[in-house]
Amino acid sequence: MNLNELKKSLSRLPLGDVRYFETIGSTNDEALAWAADDTPDLSVVIADEQTAGRGRLNRKWFTPRGTALAFSIVLRPTVDERPHLTRIVGLAALAVAESLRKHGPDARIKWPNDILIQNRKVCGILIESVWSGEDVDCVVIGVGINVLEGSVPPGEMLQFPATSLEAELGQAADRVELLRDILASLIELRTRLGTDEFLKQWEDLLALQGETVQVETEKNPRVTGQISGLDPDGSLKIRNEHGEIVTVRFGDVRLRPLA
Ligand code: ADP
Repeated sequence: MNLNELKKSLSRLPLGDVRYFETIGSTNDEALAWAADDTPDLSVVIADEQTAGRGRLNRKWFTPRGTALAFSIVLRPTVDERPHLTRIVGLAALAVAESLRKHGPDARIKWPNDILIQNRKVCGILIESVWSGEDVDCVVIGVGINVLEGSVPPGEMLQFPATSLEAELGQAADRVELLRDILASLIELRTRLGTDEFLKQWEDLLALQGETVQVETEKNPRVTGQISGLDPDGSLKIRNEHGEIVTVRFGDVRLRPLA
């Protein structure tokens, strides 16, 4: 990634500090360490390569050099945003999905934390929060987007089909431009985080609507049914085979289409 181009492109956004690494373990780890050092709201860590990129539950996220867009944002939620922390995963997912849609492909949100194109995963999002007692200190939003085909992991690493923007668009998207679009979109959406309009926008972009899906959670039995929308806190509502609405909270859940 060209550092001058990156700095120039981001200079018009109201960001905190920006750090760029050619290679790093994980952008989320770096952002968490940096956040502990009082880095300001909307600071961003960007890396060309992650050698220890993480998904949820310490699953691995593949980010080979020069092929993907990997970054983490430090958010310091305001007092007004604190009642809506469970919507931050939606904020990140919407910002990515809306930005990808500008480039053409029909990007949709696989609740809670992945972005799909044609039902294949093109982006993963990892949210990690730091608390001081009862108060949230910061939320780190990690984003990994498969830009070039080389960023798509080998099949044996995947539990869910994956794709890249290059494969979907027939050409590579510009990573710097994409990053700027996503950050600008996140900053705009954030001003509406607590609104009904935000929830509606999030709901409208959910993937797999109308299909039968299965949600596996750590604690509860599997839920099979159709997506019926989101609760105000961002929990997913599934209409099960008995016609009852079952609510699945954001946590360690895994959603997949029931083929
Ligand atoms: P999920 O939300 O699907 O449970 P995570 O968000 O925890 O998954 O992401 C980790 C998983 O994503 C890994 O176990 C691997 O199967 C898959 N994965 C890793 N890197 C990539 C990538 N670059 N593109 C698509 N999928 C990936």
